[in-house]
Amino acid sequence: MKIARFNFDEKLHWLLPRDKRGDGFDYAFNGPQSVKHLIESVGIPHTEIGETRANEEVVSLDYLVHDGDRIEVRAVVPMDESTDEPRFILDGHLGRLASHLRMLGMDSLYRNDYNDNELFRIAVDENRILLTRDRRLLMHKTIRLGYLLQSLNSEEQFREVVRRYGLKKWIKPFQRCIRCNHLLEPARKEDVLDRLQPLTKLYFEEFHICPACNQIYWKGSHFERMQKMIDELKDL
Ligand SMILES: [Zn+2]
Repeated sequence: MKIARFNFDEKLHWLLPRDKRGDGFDYAFNGPQSVKHLIESVGIPHTEIGETRANEEVVSLDYLVHDGDRIEVRAVVPMDESTDEPRFILDGHLGRLASHLRMLGMDSLYRNDYNDNELFRIAVDENRILLTRDRRLLMHKTIRLGYLLQSLNSEEQFREVVRRYGLKKWIKPFQRCIRCNHLLEPARKEDVLDRLQPLTKLYFEEFHICPACNQIYWKGSHFERMQKMIDELKDL
């Protein structure tokens, strides 16, 4: 039996069992164990782990923990805005969050019938960030990019994702289909006229269409909601 002392960043405490949220705790384990495995076994997926130190030296997550080690674990730091445009895949419970992200132009795959293996495969093959409230999914060994949402509310979840990935600079409203994630194309009014309600015909001149699912978009009620969401992000 080996014992190591673990100390976690306060930002990670919500993920720990209640009796482990204080000033650190002793953790007993057998055999050779990586620091990643021990951290996940107390409930924190590797996607949430930032800088990790063993006896004050920075170590990788493969580090094998020794008897008597003092391990300090920081939370992952939010991404700055200089990286490539992030792309997402969302688990089957996050339909509303997917709409918010698409509304602002973020490439966000979502289907309510993806199974776990499909989520893992697409996330890895397409280098997408897996968004979920299920920490078990983020503990899967193939997942490199992921974020564990804290809130149950889709608008707050949206703000969490904007903060975590520095999305403000990527916002491009009227770019993507809210229903299916495909990029929109401009449409001529005369080509969509027979599908418009009388008032829409009267008040709007500019239209977009989704070439994948044929949904028509104009700067009506969706657009006002979008503007409101963008305005609210200014204070983040
Ligand atoms: Zn569409």
